Amino acid sequence: MHSTSTIQLSKSALMHNLRFIQSLIGDGVIFSSVVKGNAYGHGIEKIVPILESCQVTSFAVFSSYEAVRVKNALKGNQTIIIFGYIPDEDLNWVVENEIECYISDSQRAAKLVNASIETNKKAIVHIDLETGMNRTGLNQYDLQKAISVLKQNKENFHIRGICTHFAGAESISNHVRVQNQFALFKELVAYLGSEGIVPDILHAASSAAAITYPETRLDMVRIGILQYGFWPSQETFIHYIHDKSNKQDPLRRILRWKSKTMDVKTVKQGEFIGYGNFFQANKDMKIAIIPIGYYDGYSRSLSNQGKVLINNQRVSVIGMVNMNMIICDITKLPNADIGDEVVMIGKQGKNELSVASFSELSNLVNYELLTRLPHTINRIQIK
Ligand SMILES: *Cc1c(COP(=O)(O)O)cnc(C)c1O
Repeated sequence: MHSTSTIQLSKSALMHNLRFIQSLIGDGVIFSSVVKGNAYGHGIEKIVPILESCQVTSFAVFSSYEAVRVKNALKGNQTIIIFGYIPDEDLNWVVENEIECYISDSQRAAKLVNASIETNKKAIVHIDLETGMNRTGLNQYDLQKAISVLKQNKENFHIRGICTHFAGAESISNHVRVQNQFALFKELVAYLGSEGIVPDILHAASSAAAITYPETRLDMVRIGILQYGFWPSQETFIHYIHDKSNKQDPLRRILRWKSKTMDVKTVKQGEFIGYGNFFQANKDMKIAIIPIGYYDGYSRSLSNQGKVLINNQRVSVIGMVNMNMIICDITKLPNADIGDEVVMIGKQGKNELSVASFSELSNLVNYELLTRLPHTINRIQIK
């Protein structure tokens, strides 16, 4: 069965972005591909095999729920790192399968000792340090407790990494905070060293930091949004491009989201269109019904606001975004008919609707809009 819309994923665009990232970070730095949030809405099951075919060796996710999906999508046994949530009942599975995970609180450390004993394997861990974001990470007090667990149970752990996360490297307004975080991180790494806790690698940078603060690339970068062809923010793009002679965006969007018109009809001047009185025809109009709605991630805030491409032209969403449908004004498209292609994100002919323009309209950032595209939409790989 076909879903009411389709997401096309361009392999060549993804490969292009990976080459860009590799040239940016150089050969000495590990690239960990962040595929949380269903690979930022692109679809873990479709994207991970492409990344694997491009020799990506490390993947990162938020939860054990996502880790098992990545593992099943892989042919090989590349590294999988869990940044975030692991329910207690999944800890043995994590250790058994040599999935790496963060220690962000000392209780996790203690639980991992048990999991290690029960599975007879070492827990492969990254010590997540709180350096000023005040989200996850070991704060001063909890760090002491975690250190004592690690020191008393050395044989149960492989200390793969020490890491932290910056609170907003995508904006210059956080510059001082990021600098302070990085300084504290280095201090704490030295302190852990003095306690005999020395990891294989250090890492801190996500996409924004990897671009804006090259010194934070350390041994590994954790890159999400860039690989999908988006900048973490307009500021990050400007920072990157300002000293380049070629001012063109070096990234390519991977995703194209399309559907088809399911009905085309005319409406007389003065009639209301759709629910309630959100839109009244100010002229005789031709309209198209498109079978996507907020159920498909097309936000209700795009009511009377959104744009789509039909017959290579940009047309407007009129009235409310419904659960399963939107209505568009196609008065200017005399030839439009049932079954015509509709593009919500991506190119059609010479026109393009970028997620960025789209999300500015709806006040969603790229990250949110992408991850809201539901699992149920068919995703197909194209060249
Ligand atoms: C999401 C996330 C990243 C990747 O962020 P991008 O801005 O998409 O590159 C890196 N590290 C951690 C801890 C994250 O949660």
